Amino acid sequence: MLNEELKIVRSETNKLLEQIDPNGEKNQINEHTVSKVLVVDDEEIMRHLLSDVLSEEGYTVSSFPRAEDALQKVLSGGISIVITDVKMKGMNGMELLKKIKENTPDVDVIVMTGYASVNTAVESMKLGAIDYLTKPLNIDQIRIIVNKTSEQRSLRRKADESVFYKKLSQLDGLTDLFNHRFFQQLMQIEIARSDRENHPVSLIMIDIDNFKLFNDKNGHPIGDLALKKLSWLLKENSRDCDFVARYGGEEFAVILPNVTKQGAEHMANRIRKVVEETKFEHEELLPIGRFTISMGIAEYPKDAQNREQLIQKADQALYAAKKNGKNMVCIYAG
Ligand code: GH3
Ligand code: MG
Ligand code: MG
Repeated sequence: MLNEELKIVRSETNKLLEQIDPNGEKNQINEHTVSKVLVVDDEEIMRHLLSDVLSEEGYTVSSFPRAEDALQKVLSGGISIVITDVKMKGMNGMELLKKIKENTPDVDVIVMTGYASVNTAVESMKLGAIDYLTKPLNIDQIRIIVNKTSEQRSLRRKADESVFYKKLSQLDGLTDLFNHRFFQQLMQIEIARSDRENHPVSLIMIDIDNFKLFNDKNGHPIGDLALKKLSWLLKENSRDCDFVARYGGEEFAVILPNVTKQGAEHMANRIRKVVEETKFEHEELLPIGRFTISMGIAEYPKDAQNREQLIQKADQALYAAKKNGKNMVCIYAG
């Protein structure tokens, strides 16, 4: 029963790895030359055995007879993998495992157990151990398990990096809002969803009033700060399901799935008011002494047959808002 449980935990780990690396690039990755391994065992002979085998594999290995000292070393940073015995005087291996996972969850812990104590292995994996070694130690088993752990670390890092870079490619560097390219993709997705589910999508296009003047009077860096502040206000005042993007220099867009243009107008006016009432540094230099925005709204499929048209119609409404005096919301009227 316990063996079964252990198999399940291992197979779950392997499944996760396959999802991260469907192309099987595992063999090309070899992080272990940089992995720092810490061995914890109160028997000197075990520490020597593990150090010798793993140094030969290219790892940098250090060892401690006491878990308390090992923990201090781990907490001071730089260690990637800990191999620990369970039964030790003072703090035992399970307590060390718990402390490591609480404080430095990124460090992988491999537990060494006796053949007879499969339940210890199960318990340790439940506590977050990545794998276990059985005593008496077998050299091949040490190599395989530590190399596999090192490979998994490398894959995890790669997966984290790819999520990070994906996000980075979707966001605007100055404002952290969605960038233009991703905005276009989102529009495409929402329009397709609208066709499928037969509900409207509204688009609000936003442009700062007299921003050229604001920049000319205050300089570009103060202009950038105002763009950041406005972005924050737009995010704070929209729903979680809306998408706020920086469309271009001082132009922004909000996609509102499942909202009619009347609903969008309500929200746009609320945002317009918030911006008007929020203090922007040096806004007194502007014509009405306030930092303001104008907005244009159109609705799919009522006003447009596709994404390009929807943007165009919302832009036309925005133009009308500018022409009629700025600091205003206009709906596309057809
Ligand atoms: P209107 O009220 O009609 O919108 O006039 P405007 O002055 O806001 O419009 P215009 O299109 O003439 O000028 C936009 C200005 O936005 C020009 C440019 O200096 C500024 N701008 C565009 N991108 C950035 C940016 O990334 N940072 C800063 N600080 N300014 C920017
Ligand atoms: Mg503009
Ligand atoms: Mg402008």
